[in-house]
Amino acid sequence: MSDRAPRLGDVIDDYCPRCRLLLNHDVTSLFGAEVAKVTCRTCHNAHDYRRAQVPARRKAAQAPDKKSLIEQVLASMPMPPGPPPAPVAPVKRKRDLWADLERIKGQKKE
Ligand SMILES: [Zn+2]
Repeated sequence: MSDRAPRLGDVIDDYCPRCRLLLNHDVTSLFGAEVAKVTCRTCHNAHDYRRAQVPARRKAAQAPDKKSLIEQVLASMPMPPGPPPAPVAPVKRKRDLWADLERIKGQKKE
């Protein structure tokens, strides 16, 4: 771009808040020699000229807060109990009918 004053209809780079990208924009409004409003050439969203400034990502700004929050919650919580003892697996035996029969016979004898 040259350093001449912007004019209506000029194509300039700016950040589109709808596309969330740096894209080509048409100059649609001027305030003196300054660009006041632009229209995104991709989604045709008109918005104030942001001087091609990409705003800081919200996620990056919130990440440390989230971490400290979870730390606060964890700090306020009592120590969690240890894991429960492993359940004793029931011993599944195949029923031995002959052994049962012998046991019954033996009980009858006594
Ligand atoms: Zn757009």
